[in-house]
Amino acid sequence: MSFHLTKKLPTPAEIKEMYPVSEKTAALKAAKDRELIDILTGRSDKFMVIIGPCSADNEEAVCEYIERLARVQEKVRDRLTLVPRIYTNKPRTTGEGYKGMLHQPDPEKAPDLLNGLIAIRKIHMHALETFHMPIADEMLYPENYRYLSDVLSYVAVGARSVENQQHRLVASGIEGPVGMKNPTSGDLSVMLNSIVAAQHGHNFLYRGWDATTDGNPYAHAILRGAVNKHGQNQPNYHFEDLELLDRMYGEKHLLNPACIVDTNHSNSGKRFKEQIRIAKEVLVSRQHEESIKKLVKGLMIESYLVEGTQKVGDGPHIYGKSITDPCLGWEDSERLIYEIAERV
Ligand code: PEP
Ligand code: MN
Repeated sequence: MSFHLTKKLPTPAEIKEMYPVSEKTAALKAAKDRELIDILTGRSDKFMVIIGPCSADNEEAVCEYIERLARVQEKVRDRLTLVPRIYTNKPRTTGEGYKGMLHQPDPEKAPDLLNGLIAIRKIHMHALETFHMPIADEMLYPENYRYLSDVLSYVAVGARSVENQQHRLVASGIEGPVGMKNPTSGDLSVMLNSIVAAQHGHNFLYRGWDATTDGNPYAHAILRGAVNKHGQNQPNYHFEDLELLDRMYGEKHLLNPACIVDTNHSNSGKRFKEQIRIAKEVLVSRQHEESIKKLVKGLMIESYLVEGTQKVGDGPHIYGKSITDPCLGWEDSERLIYEIAERV
């Protein structure tokens, strides 16, 4: 048994000094935060589509993907705000093997945390500066949030993290919108409690500091489906699920009640092509009932250049194909975005 502190790594402040964002980029990031906040508060009636690979495993492929997305964004700008997913610390579901770009900047090579920290900062900065889109990442590790706090416009707290106190406390200090997923059990009250916690200010121990937050009024729900005791997926994107969430939100007196529907994970049972049908069903539910339209502010879609998924080290690597959850391919994704734009 052992716990070795092998190497002291740069602090977030040090990394930010090594790779600083310009004033122009800082202003751009603030404008992008504002765009998403306006959607969540209802000041804007645009619809948010958070879309991209499950895991950002390769800078070149992810940037090529976002470049395509940026072109589509131009065509749907009156109706949709596209938010590229650049998930830089996505592990596999069991936590074994690949743990994301932070740990393994090259998935085929050994873990390298120092270069991983630099790689994740660089890919986020590059994407924001080049494509001028609001960027999303997941906060897997709350103590790492500040390495990217000046470049992220959307932060998700995952299904396995949302019950965790440190995630809730740090979410309360995140500058822009933070989406709290329902836990894998599917318990919506656990998710709503995490939104209550994130919307309040807190005082807590963080990276050796006495830290204080003001609370995040833009903390909101993400429905990702659940898993029951038999290990079966239980979707929660249907009309009745959205109605239930709306009712439960009403009892909590939260600021800016809002929900994003994740079309993959336990909603699709990772049958990635079903994301197309699920997205459309959610849009029908929005059309059907004004309160649901008001509640559901966007979708989260897993999509990459090539559809499906592949195993690392299992034959030749296919460029732009997911190495974690299976994704929609580019053609289906592009078509789906236009269809979403027509139906919002
Ligand atoms: C994801 O967004 O890729 C993901 C794994 O989410 P969840 O926490 O819902 O499983
Ligand atoms: Mn995923």
